[in-house]
Amino acid sequence: MDWLERAAEVEQLDRDIALAAQHERAGLDGKTAADSAEFCELPDCGAPIPDKRRQAVPGCRFCVECQERIEKYPAWGERYA
Ligand SMILES: [Zn+2]
Repeated sequence: MDWLERAAEVEQLDRDIALAAQHERAGLDGKTAADSAEFCELPDCGAPIPDKRRQAVPGCRFCVECQERIEKYPAWGERYA
């Protein structure tokens, strides 16, 4: 992968994080970055949550992938809500 592809990938990741942040903030009023989980709280995931996301979405509990799955299939996420 050359640097240009790498840059595009990072940019895409930033966009994903910003988008997910927008979706989530509604329910997380009053939370701070310190409330964010360091690791995704889904038992079968446990992926580390990047600092950037933890600050963009104070109080977040899931990684971007799991958050997207939960938003797409609310029933899937209810087990962990
Ligand atoms: Zn996850």
